[in-house]
Amino acid sequence: MASEDTEAVQPLVPYLKTDASGPYLAGSKCQACGHLFVGERRVCAKCSARDQMSPVRLAERGRLYDFTVVHRSFPGVDTPFVDAIVDLEDGAHLKGTLLEVEPDPEKIAFDMPVKIVYREAVPVGGGGKPYLTYFFVPA
Ligand SMILES: [Zn+2]
Repeated sequence: MASEDTEAVQPLVPYLKTDASGPYLAGSKCQACGHLFVGERRVCAKCSARDQMSPVRLAERGRLYDFTVVHRSFPGVDTPFVDAIVDLEDGAHLKGTLLEVEPDPEKIAFDMPVKIVYREAVPVGGGGKPYLTYFFVPA
């Protein structure tokens, strides 16, 4: 029981890590060409170098590259919401949900500055354990 009390909330995705300074997103940097990827990789999709990846902590700020306003989703998922692709400051590209904006294309600007925030969420329908995930918010 004691271990359950101290058990950390599990991340939704494997590249969301936590250390002493808090949650962060993990990436891989190709030592051959410098390209950055989200998560762990063995082979560079940019230059095909093999086993030349170094783990890195991804940037937490970036700019909105593209988005879509989602009006229909799985049962229990509140809509509309904004699904976004962000170019992080370090060159990685990341998909996620953009919060704290009106889900109206007229009110969302391409290239607007955003930052990553980490929040606990609960599974749709309320069953199951809470999990840790990330979102984008305007910066
Ligand atoms: Zn490479």
